[in-house]
Amino acid sequence: MRLRFFFDISNFYQGLRRLARTTSLRFQYPEMSDDFNLASAVWLHSRVTPHATAIAYKNQTLSYEQYACRARDLAERLARSSDWQERTVKPLKVGILASRGIDACVAMLGACWAGAAYIPIGLKLPQDRILAILAACELTALIADAEGAQLLTDAVLAACPPILIRADQVPAANNKDQPLTGNLSEPVQVAADDLAYVIFTSGTTGEPKGVMISAGSAQNYVKTIVNTLGLVATDRALETCELSFDFSVHNMFATWQAGAALHILPASLVMNAVKFARNAQLTVWNSVPSLVGMLQQIKALQHACLPDLRITVFGGEALPQTAALQWQDAAPNAKIFNLYGPTEATVFCLAQVFSCDATITAGRGVVAIGTALGGCEAIVVDSQGAEVPDGMIGELAIGGVQLAQGYLGQPKLTIQKFPMLNGKRWYLTGDFAVRDLSGVFHCLGRIDNQIKVSGYRIELEEIDAALRQISGQNLVGAVAWPFVDGAAKGIVGFVAGSPIDHAELTAALKQKLPPYMVPNRVVNLKVIPLNSSGKVDRRALADLLKIEST
Ligand code: AMP
Repeated sequence: MRLRFFFDISNFYQGLRRLARTTSLRFQYPEMSDDFNLASAVWLHSRVTPHATAIAYKNQTLSYEQYACRARDLAERLARSSDWQERTVKPLKVGILASRGIDACVAMLGACWAGAAYIPIGLKLPQDRILAILAACELTALIADAEGAQLLTDAVLAACPPILIRADQVPAANNKDQPLTGNLSEPVQVAADDLAYVIFTSGTTGEPKGVMISAGSAQNYVKTIVNTLGLVATDRALETCELSFDFSVHNMFATWQAGAALHILPASLVMNAVKFARNAQLTVWNSVPSLVGMLQQIKALQHACLPDLRITVFGGEALPQTAALQWQDAAPNAKIFNLYGPTEATVFCLAQVFSCDATITAGRGVVAIGTALGGCEAIVVDSQGAEVPDGMIGELAIGGVQLAQGYLGQPKLTIQKFPMLNGKRWYLTGDFAVRDLSGVFHCLGRIDNQIKVSGYRIELEEIDAALRQISGQNLVGAVAWPFVDGAAKGIVGFVAGSPIDHAELTAALKQKLPPYMVPNRVVNLKVIPLNSSGKVDRRALADLLKIEST
């Protein structure tokens, strides 16, 4: 009995020591610690507050203890496999083919626990894109839930890594006789520059590009944001994203860092998000601002309908001032944060709190993106990469510890998008921006053809590539259309030449592109307008749609 007590106490102190190493309260990255495993916070809370809820989904909940045990079991299962043990090339990468839910969380945390990087693969992706991602990643293992398993066609299976695990099935005992590599009773220690995750975004070349985020960058983000927002263990936070959108990194790891509970909104209940938040008495709302517009449209936002919310995080796209005001009315006790950031700078890197005296970006009616978060830097540069004075428009560049390692397997693109300026590495965001005289940054739209539709990042050139390939026409162009309150709501594709079979074209596009990138409409034009440099003139195409709608 006394011996047991000693072990409990020593485990507890071991936990506290690791907490001291992993918390930003005492130390600052990069000097702070030697432990950057994203699973460490869950492990730690499993020791200190084992019965607190870590995840709630549908009618299931996992306490921190249950969550840590399931993640550890999965990590053990990976580590027992001879394919895992024989893989000497680091980093080990684990693909996750799972819809948001408990199995996806366990799969992802299990991969982290084992010291590997996780790579989410969206379930709505067409087979070609899944194959492209599998080919680019050289995975050691793939973990699929029941829904993900339905995508394992013969072609996908042929491209799968040697270890294939069903997350929703009890671990099989076939490899139990293999000794464990290392001690997996706690997460494997990883270094700051080890790969934590890879998230794929739309690419201008027609292929998705994988953004590689290190464990040090991810930990800096998580610790900084928990302090910035003031998240605490009693919080109950909303998850609205799939793992393949990097907003999920914020939702999951910030919540677990605080020892709070993550309440996952089932995809079928998106339109009932307000009711969901009320029933679960959520205190933290995380979503793209587009969701506010959708909820407003169906009149789901009534005065003070969300009284329990104390924190709201909007990010991933511009936050219209009108949406922020509507939200303030619906959630009067919530402090609203507008967070800005590209996937390439680890989720979010600038922030502004919205209040009556918040800075609004003149002429655009959106909340300004604020100032850099701890560990991040922001400057505005001209086309030569020189910093411009305050008040002048240029391109927003981000620096600091949250910069991605680059694009998986694309060193040239990495050097182009992450140049050295004045001896320091920066990421060129492609966003027009200005820093005003009080030091607040404003985002002024895109330099390139990247758009956001309902929070999804889309390169129009990627849709062009698909249109070109399928129609056989060289002159094609995709444009964002229509716009509501300045935000794109859909895509229209244009194809030159003789009439095409629209149903056939759309069916073929669905085979190539994720659903949110498939144009809602494809228009046939005898002549496609070109600009002075001989390229397809997207502005003229958009003007045609404007004329049509008036
Ligand atoms: P993603 O990599 O999907 O997070 O997309 C990053 C891009 O989304 C940025 O480069 C911006 O164009 C846009 N974005 C993200 N957050 C904001 C925000 N709060 N305000 C304005 N634009 C944003």
